[in-house]
Amino acid sequence: MSCGFDLDHYAELLDAAVAGGYRWARFDHEPGTGDLFLRHDVDLSLDAALRMARLERDRGARATYFLMTESVFYNLASHEGTDAVAELRDLGHAVGFHAVHPRFARDDRFDPVMAWHNPDPEYVFEPVDGVVNVMQSPWFTKGRYRSDSNAHWREGCPHDELRAGAFEWLQLLVHPEIWVYPGATMGETMRAMLDAKRDEWLQRLADDRIDLS
Ligand SMILES: [Zn+2]
Ligand SMILES: [Zn+2]
Repeated sequence: MSCGFDLDHYAELLDAAVAGGYRWARFDHEPGTGDLFLRHDVDLSLDAALRMARLERDRGARATYFLMTESVFYNLASHEGTDAVAELRDLGHAVGFHAVHPRFARDDRFDPVMAWHNPDPEYVFEPVDGVVNVMQSPWFTKGRYRSDSNAHWREGCPHDELRAGAFEWLQLLVHPEIWVYPGATMGETMRAMLDAKRDEWLQRLADDRIDLS
């Protein structure tokens, strides 16, 4: 099995988690044996999030999608944004708030769970009033956390350990853009995403009655 960052291997990761006996857990209870907290920080593309969410639904997986309200890359207040939130919920996923420090104004689009975007060490693990911060104890525990940030598993791709049930429980952070768009490096993947966004933007212009002739 090759550990590429693509949707084929992502499906293998999900299947490995099922084979290892894990349960799809939401951040609405403290971690227990067998919990798999599947977390997606949506930094760059709602389209990538939706494609990953549909694949998960098809394989019976449940995740929590953390969405931004002040991204420069997508607009959650647009009709595409509100449609994306509705579809994520229809697919059975939870929706949390991906906040930019120090601003924190959660609204009723989100479940009471949050994750900071690009956090600094001074506040990343601190509790936040009224919600679960996914990086506060006990949801963040050393040895029970894996992240694919910048297309790099610092502690290795977890598929073997998931299949073997080697984690008592796990928080698994996966960024959809890295897996949905092709590329052997983060730079290639980002360029592939920009090519896809160009097509999306041409369609938006047409939808906005711009003459593209
Ligand atoms: Zn792997
Ligand atoms: Zn982020």
